[in-house]
Amino acid sequence: MKLKLNWIAGAALAAMLLGGCAGQEDASDGGTEDAPDRQDEQTQEQADSGGANEEAPEESAGENGEGGKNEQVPATAEPEEPLYELNEATWSFRPIGDADPKAALLTIDDAPDKHALEMAKTLKELDAPAIFFVNGHFIDTDEEKAVLKRIHEMGFPIGNHTMTHADLKQISEEAQREEILGVNEIVEQVTGEKPRFFRAPFGQNTDFSRQLAADEGMLLMNWTYGYDWEPQYQNEDALADIMINTEYLNNGANLLMHDREWTAAALPKIVQGLRDKGFKLIDPATIKVPEAAQ
Ligand SMILES: [Zn+2]
Repeated sequence: MKLKLNWIAGAALAAMLLGGCAGQEDASDGGTEDAPDRQDEQTQEQADSGGANEEAPEESAGENGEGGKNEQVPATAEPEEPLYELNEATWSFRPIGDADPKAALLTIDDAPDKHALEMAKTLKELDAPAIFFVNGHFIDTDEEKAVLKRIHEMGFPIGNHTMTHADLKQISEEAQREEILGVNEIVEQVTGEKPRFFRAPFGQNTDFSRQLAADEGMLLMNWTYGYDWEPQYQNEDALADIMINTEYLNNGANLLMHDREWTAAALPKIVQGLRDKGFKLIDPATIKVPEAAQ
């Protein structure tokens, strides 16, 4: 029994670090287990990069208190001089020049479903920037498009998370093209701006999707950690606690969250917890993205 529990704990840990949307969808949709080969592949992929995680230097921890008061400065979507670049080996961010290394990025995937608008309002009140990664199946009605537009107008960049949340490794190149370009088309039509960030469902990319994202001028990213699809973290307090006390909260962390009830509830505590630990929140407008191909 003990062995089995240990195995389950190990598997759960692997899933929470690596499974991303795969895991959470199982949990919230009541679906079946994710295909084991997927998890294994991804475990391998990310295990390779996991060792490269940099230790967070213990510096500039005395900056908490900053950002505590909301001065109604909206999260901005204006392009600025890049301050952070993605480390593709770890999916974390490193500072450019003298930008503060002690910073973390918030991302909300599988949006805008039932909670994204509320989450955007919460984040805006907290003056906390974030990327909302959207799926085409959540933005195909006028009502949903209106929600997308409002989130964008609040200053949050909209990232591409594919039309149907398909596993890109399982479909043809033509289908991958439709999955990716379809979202860019709708987002541009609704917001007037094309997505500058791409995150594949389940973190599963192909050479084709990597190239297409680059051609479209999108920065492709996975994440460094997330927990909100694990059953034990599907409540406000447990989720807020693990998101700010996990050992994976290091400089440049790329936090994966989802459009979920408990995540929406936990957001204020997560933002405050990160700030109390001295982390700045990375403004996506300051992230270096590739130039679109001509
Ligand atoms: Zn997802």
